[in-house]
Amino acid sequence: MQVEGFKPFSGPDAIRVYRKARERLNMENMKDDDLLNAVSSLGILLETEIALMYALQDQICTKCGNCCTDNKSLRVQKTELKQVAEYKKTSYKKIKKETHSRPRRDGSMRISRRPCPFHDGEQCTIYPLRPAECRSYPVSELLKSLGGKTTYPEDCEISDDLLVEIAIKRALEEKMNRENPDLMKELTEKKKQELQKLSGMNQNQRLAYLTQRYQNTLNRD
Ligand code: SF4
Ligand code: SF4
Repeated sequence: MQVEGFKPFSGPDAIRVYRKARERLNMENMKDDDLLNAVSSLGILLETEIALMYALQDQICTKCGNCCTDNKSLRVQKTELKQVAEYKKTSYKKIKKETHSRPRRDGSMRISRRPCPFHDGEQCTIYPLRPAECRSYPVSELLKSLGGKTTYPEDCEISDDLLVEIAIKRALEEKMNRENPDLMKELTEKKKQELQKLSGMNQNQRLAYLTQRYQNTLNRD
């Protein structure tokens, strides 16, 4: 079946993700085809899978700082920068000057000083208040790259791991679908009903809710 807008995940990044998933998924009765299909179908991610990736990235980020010391500028909302100024016990005006922040057309600010002025060479000095753009990395970039809009965020060492998790989950679901279709049907129905309960929320609210729920589960494990 041809899904509109679907672009299979392919090329060297997909091969690497497949190999890592194969290594991790050491099950003799796992069909190679299931895993290959699971990796190539990563070109489309479900809302629940995106939420799971957002929750996981917080858990597995190694805090290597690559995303803080590269040459990319950082987008920050004015309110976020004001909160940071408060946290740093300084003024908004001063922090704007020190970080070389310039207003953008959409009302946000662009911090052009690189490496990021909040990185002290070892770590982020505003970690609890780091802007949304930092919190959402690398998932936000992975989503764009899977949609063909940007290149794969290979400077982040957890990019592959996040996709590996989803590929493994999909391959195991496929296996369960074949071996125990009734149970799989039941689980899928349960998931559908859960998502229906959230139908009053908009997409961002739903994603935030699901991410928080996964975060709670991961913190309990
Ligand atoms: S590059 Fe990736 S692993 Fe490193 S700090 Fe940034 S998000 Fe974490
Ligand atoms: S605000 Fe913190 S997490 Fe974000 S780029 Fe700067 S140092 Fe890194």
